[in-house]
Amino acid sequence: MTANIELPPSQHYINGEWVGGGDRVIPVINPADGTQIGEIPSGDQHTVGAAVSAARAAFHNPHWRNMPPMVREGLMHRLASLIEENASQLGQIESLDNGKPIAFSSSVDVPMTITWFRYFAGWCSKLSGKSLSPALQPLDSHHAYTRRQPVGVVGAIVPWNFPLVLAAWKLAPALAAGCTVILKPAEQTPYSALKLAELISEAGFPPGVFNLVLGDGQTGQALVEHPGINKISFTGSTAVGKSIVRSVAHDLKRVTLELGGKSPTIILPDADMELAIPGAAQAVYANAGQICFAGTRLFAPRKQFDRILEGIASVAETFKIGPGLDPETLLGPVVSQKQMDGILARVDDSVRHGASLFTGGTRHGDSGYFISPSILVTEDRQNPAFREEFFGPVLCATPYDDLNDVAALANDSSYGLAAHVYTSSLQQAHQLSNSLDAGTVWVNTQLSPDPNIPFGGFKQSGWGRENAEDALDHYTETKSVIMKVDC
Ligand code: NAP
Ligand code: MG
Repeated sequence: MTANIELPPSQHYINGEWVGGGDRVIPVINPADGTQIGEIPSGDQHTVGAAVSAARAAFHNPHWRNMPPMVREGLMHRLASLIEENASQLGQIESLDNGKPIAFSSSVDVPMTITWFRYFAGWCSKLSGKSLSPALQPLDSHHAYTRRQPVGVVGAIVPWNFPLVLAAWKLAPALAAGCTVILKPAEQTPYSALKLAELISEAGFPPGVFNLVLGDGQTGQALVEHPGINKISFTGSTAVGKSIVRSVAHDLKRVTLELGGKSPTIILPDADMELAIPGAAQAVYANAGQICFAGTRLFAPRKQFDRILEGIASVAETFKIGPGLDPETLLGPVVSQKQMDGILARVDDSVRHGASLFTGGTRHGDSGYFISPSILVTEDRQNPAFREEFFGPVLCATPYDDLNDVAALANDSSYGLAAHVYTSSLQQAHQLSNSLDAGTVWVNTQLSPDPNIPFGGFKQSGWGRENAEDALDHYTETKSVIMKVDC
């Protein structure tokens, strides 16, 4: 199934050129069958240094620095159009190395990427400072204003679950703000980022404005530690997020973090079950559960608990499991053998600690990294199924008796990325939304981020917000100018 897919060059893209570099190579595996698709070089400190030099020079080059915002906006729209023209190839690439269903990558990943570039293109010409009146000086004697200047060189580090979308979530606001960027995709899923590099070059961005360094965690670490980078924008695990915070302590680089989650789906007794049951199934099983804001903990009324679990299990049975490149597939493999083994070990661990298995919990087939849609049931808040992020198609279901306890139950987590609430009561919807520790609350819908709506986490789910004007705050520095005018 891989034969007809044209893959971009497997090299670093630095200063507008494809280059080698790094003394190790990393194999790239097709998660649908475990075969090797190709290999990439792992960038070392020298590679990262070359990318930083290129990005710094481009940042200071008047061609980029003084480019009128409408011209930058035009480049971003040109890039969005090129992504549109190459949508079919990009969708295939995304399904090949990640394993996600082509039905999903072509209707979600690629269109979202285009939308994000178009949305942020509009911000290039809208970003501005304010004119302010000093509080301690007579109005006529001083003039004050703020400027929003690009933060500088951005190191963007992304995971493998939405390689193209998450690259766009970082690149689009960074370019709109006038920054230059070094992107490091995850070692498992490099190809869509490489294709994006080709298209950025074709769109006409000046050399060095966008650079791509291939590699693994060591390459990411080299970016984080490099003194020539002004800001790290990271999406990935909470453990790596914490290590990044420790690493930047010495030079106080700016950092934003989009980390893990264990987001609740809360079904209230008055919910429309025709909406809630398929919604809860989608929230946990879409993208084989590899969504940071997946609804992986279910809270349902005890009286309706069995009926709801049976409903979710029968919706999951309708998802055809198969290779991502099969157009019929609705549930693909997880990304790697390591992920599959880790998820199954966590299921076993949860059962050993007293959770019961309602459905699934096993590998599907004996080739590729497929896991059957699974449901674990527990009322023990210390059970691993309740507390830990599995990042796979596994739901942890817990019944509740009293509506007044639901918010506290859902908030009992070190994470706080998102929540899904199903109810027919406007009052309950508002009350619960107010009390949940979550960066985003979806009511009677699920999994629908929007470029104009901030996204990010409470608690250990991260620092800062992506999307909307909020994201631009993290790619700019505010400078205040105070001028005495009556001298
Ligand atoms: P990960 O191990 O943290 O990797 C994420 C990225 O960081 C990869 O590019 C990785 O490189 C790189 N990396 C690894 N170690 C590093 C280090 N010490 N310094 C700098 N970079 C380093 O995460 P993952 O396991 O691949 O991805 C799944 C996790 O991401 C889940 O926890 C999930 O919730 C989270 N996630 C969060 C969001 C969000 O928006 N909040 C979105 C998607 C995923 P290599 O992989 O190439 O080694
Ligand atoms: Mg990793």
